Amino acid sequence: MTIDFTTGRPQARPLDVRWNHGSPSAKHNTDPDLQVHVYDEHTVILRQNMAVNYEAPFLYLLFGNERAVLIDTGATAEAAYLPLRRTVDELIEGWLAKNPREDYRLLVVHTHAHGDHVAGDGQFADRPGTELVPAGKDSAWPFFGFDEDPEAVARIDLGGRVLECLATPGHHAASVTYYDPWSGFLLTGDTVYPGRLYIDDWAAFAQTIDRLVEFAERRPVTHVLGCHIEMSIRPGVDYPIRYTYQPYEAPLELAVAHLYEIRGALGAVAASGGEPRRVVLPRFILWPSE
Ligand SMILES: [Zn+2]
Repeated sequence: MTIDFTTGRPQARPLDVRWNHGSPSAKHNTDPDLQVHVYDEHTVILRQNMAVNYEAPFLYLLFGNERAVLIDTGATAEAAYLPLRRTVDELIEGWLAKNPREDYRLLVVHTHAHGDHVAGDGQFADRPGTELVPAGKDSAWPFFGFDEDPEAVARIDLGGRVLECLATPGHHAASVTYYDPWSGFLLTGDTVYPGRLYIDDWAAFAQTIDRLVEFAERRPVTHVLGCHIEMSIRPGVDYPIRYTYQPYEAPLELAVAHLYEIRGALGAVAASGGEPRRVVLPRFILWPSE
């Protein structure tokens, strides 16, 4: 049966999940290698175990009528430590058991090309019915058409569920942001998440934030979701890099209001000369790369 992904507006509702957040001793960690959170029956959020890699990135698996898309492949190559292929295969199998289909395919794309988002790519190399788009600009940009027009809104049709994709450089030259009209998720990768927003190209980042604000104003966005959590629940206080135990980490989900907040902070920097500098906000630290 064909699922209708287009009627109605996405409803904002809490993620309602307690993310695995590491443990005092990484060696004695008993969390699963990958935490699977089913947000709705067609939308899955995964988090890699912090004890395996302190980056503990989030990954997204979205189902459409004809294919699923996996956005990012985690921080670890070895299936023994990051059983991503097996987990994704099981999730697809489970979905197909409820929604039988012939020749269901998988697309693998990325939020950007940093190592902690692409390390599991190799696990999908020999997967049947799978298209993997490498995250580097040379491959990703032509796939989305951003090589021809970096301002374009590219579309990925999963079969009735059509993602909109934007080139959003700043953190990384090949960063992509995905909007899913079914869940209302705006998936911002490492461009916007509760943490240290490492800004490689300040001018490009400021443009990207302007663009995201403008884009989000014209669509129902339920949650802005990035790929890490580095902030604690205490405003402006982050967990130091390489920590593998974050018992009081901030929630993953952000709102469009946070995009305005970042835009405001960038505007204040621009108004005071424009020299990139660190800016501490309750849920973010703008962090120019050295
Ligand atoms: Zn990154």
